[in-house]
Amino acid sequence: MWRSDILSVRAAIPIRSALLLVGAALLFTACGGSADTPPGEAESTSTRDSEQVVYVYSGRHYGLMEPAFIQFTQETGIKVRFTFGKEAELHERLLAEGRFTPADLLFTVDAGNLWLAARDGLLQPIESEILTSNIPVHLRDPENQWFALSVRARTIMYSTERVDPDELSTYEDLADPRWQGRLCLRPSTKVYTQSIVASLIAAHGETEAESIVAGWVANEPVYIDSDTRILKALEAGECDVAIANTYYLGRILNENPDFAVKLFWANQDDRGVHVNISGGGVTTHARNVENAIRLLEWLSGPGQNLFADGNFEYPANPDIEPHPLLSSWGSFKEDSVFANEFGRLQADALRLLDRTGHE
Ligand code: FE
Repeated sequence: MWRSDILSVRAAIPIRSALLLVGAALLFTACGGSADTPPGEAESTSTRDSEQVVYVYSGRHYGLMEPAFIQFTQETGIKVRFTFGKEAELHERLLAEGRFTPADLLFTVDAGNLWLAARDGLLQPIESEILTSNIPVHLRDPENQWFALSVRARTIMYSTERVDPDELSTYEDLADPRWQGRLCLRPSTKVYTQSIVASLIAAHGETEAESIVAGWVANEPVYIDSDTRILKALEAGECDVAIANTYYLGRILNENPDFAVKLFWANQDDRGVHVNISGGGVTTHARNVENAIRLLEWLSGPGQNLFADGNFEYPANPDIEPHPLLSSWGSFKEDSVFANEFGRLQADALRLLDRTGHE
């Protein structure tokens, strides 16, 4: 099986287009968060009424999105205009623009960001049987204001030279003193850290979650604000174990199969590994709602591999087979806590991280 029992049944239907995959893999660079020069700023409203178009604000990087958009336009005739930016900037921009926003769709990484957008009234509920059948219920907003389009696991990574995988078990175990001085972690300012701590709160309650995080902190981790640099630090011997997103390892292994870092599927004997999503929703003031829904629907089905594989993420649609490199990592049990919980618990997680002295 892949990520779950559901996937194990559905993963038997390979519908990937190898050519498209190669294109996506060549073009990918970074995920989320980079404020590159926007390749296509939104056009004036006078031109938009005369053509089939959809305007996208995206916290996912240009190179990742472009092949999917090109393919979508070829299949539907709907042009995609996009603006890229950091998640927080796009959020503020939507708030400031209000009903004058050119954006029809918002794409972000991390369920916490999507939850914040929904909470602040930036997204609208949409009705689509295609989306609700393609995307499992725990990977979308309860009111259908946003939908996951890809899934990433944040799990334990280790040096193959200094750690025996038999020593590894759970996120909680990384609080054990035997990992003193051997741990690399992402700082608390990153939403990935807030979401995994939110998952600890969901699993254990706040008091126990705090003692687990305090245990990590007591092990004097090296804090590095980049998953890629965390993995390189593991290989370079700056630490022996870490927590990082799977796609960062996928990118490195795709270039260098001999890279001396492996992933370990955490918490397989209890709740499962922490997964998060990237996804999108239709903006509250969207003018091209039908086109926006059509793009979301297309990305949740025919466009899944273009969307997910270029960044070595798992498709959110369980009917779609993941990239072969991800298949080689084998199946794992995933924590099925609802993605919207990460947003709900984000503020608690941040306060908890502060109290423990986690950087
Ligand atoms: Fe990322």
